[in-house]
Amino acid sequence: MMADNGPDAMFVAGGTDLYPNMKRRQQTPKVVIGLAQIKDLRTMKGQPKEGMVLGASLTLADVTADTRIQGAYPAVAKAAELISTPLLRNMGSIGGNLLLDTRCNYYDQNYEWRKAIHFCMKKDGEICWVAPSSPRCWAVQSSDCAPVMVAIGAKVKLVSNSGERVISAAELYNDDGIRHLNKRPDELLTEIHLPPVNGWRATYWKLRRRGSFDFPVLGVATSLKFSADGTIEDSKIILGGVGSHPVEAVAAQKVIAGNKLTEDVIREAAQAAYQPAKPLDNTDFAMTWRKEMARFYVSGTLRELAT
Ligand SMILES: Cc1cc2nc3c(=O)[nH]c(=O)nc-3n(C[C@H](O)[C@H](O)[C@H](O)COP(=O)(O)OP(=O)(O)OC[C@H]3O[C@@H](n4cnc5c(N)ncnc54)[C@H](O)[C@@H]3O)c2cc1C
Ligand code: SF4
Repeated sequence: MMADNGPDAMFVAGGTDLYPNMKRRQQTPKVVIGLAQIKDLRTMKGQPKEGMVLGASLTLADVTADTRIQGAYPAVAKAAELISTPLLRNMGSIGGNLLLDTRCNYYDQNYEWRKAIHFCMKKDGEICWVAPSSPRCWAVQSSDCAPVMVAIGAKVKLVSNSGERVISAAELYNDDGIRHLNKRPDELLTEIHLPPVNGWRATYWKLRRRGSFDFPVLGVATSLKFSADGTIEDSKIILGGVGSHPVEAVAAQKVIAGNKLTEDVIREAAQAAYQPAKPLDNTDFAMTWRKEMARFYVSGTLRELAT
């Protein structure tokens, strides 16, 4: 069906992102191809020791309820559980979450609102209202599970008429608010491959205005591998909600490499993670405060995993 309809078509899983976007005419497919009846996309295979394979259409509720995920991939379970509301988690899929459209205060508005400001570069317009001299869109990566999948080294399988490929979750994302996915529109996300746990420990912290439900304005996914003596052998610290893609806090990872997580090391790493967090004024809260919070959230995740 996708091959027949070309760029006029889009896939839909739960529809909790696509349908609101269609109502606001941010996304305007002529053909919508439903995935709900494809049973193979709703299976969960494997064990944490060897790695697990999640079908892309598993609902967020399916993922959070699974005891293997809760026990071995708590960061995945936590991120999925913090998404929107129970009703939406019963509809929304894990695959749809990883492919969530980027968000911006000037874009997530109804058609009339956007028309009143002559639209913007992301849809129907020419200028970026957040950075008017910018040649690119800075809409924000706002999926809770995306930074977690990058932090734990998950992979995704993309299938189309021209073949299939498996790429890392990190490769799936692009630092551009419009072309934010390295996925062709005709490619179907079929599987998410969680790696063997193999001694890694991970967590996810989410900052949002309303505790009941809200998109993240900052998400910190931290995944650590400890040596037997408690030093950090390897790490990934990934920031969500601060750019158009999940941002790797490379300098913070360097600070903790080969060290024990003492208070001094944690403070230094948190300071280093603060630098790459460059939020713009296009989501909730003041951007300077969101940047400041990156420091607290990174240290919080490190302290949690150290205990
Ligand atoms: C009120 C509200 C609050 C929300 N809060 C949050 C939140 O806090 N955090 C958060 O991360 N999200 C949030 N969301 C967004 C959304 O509910 C989730 O991200 C959900 O997981 C999306 O999954 P879905 O199956 O509904 O996606 P869909 O809407 O079905 O699809 C989303 C996108 O992915 C594409 N797609 C879906 N499945 C596939 C596939 N298998 N292959 C190829 N393309 C595919 C669609 O074409 C579309 O572009 C919220 C939404 C609402 C309405
Ligand atoms: S960052 Fe700029 S171009 Fe992108 S959605 Fe916002 S206003 Fe539009």
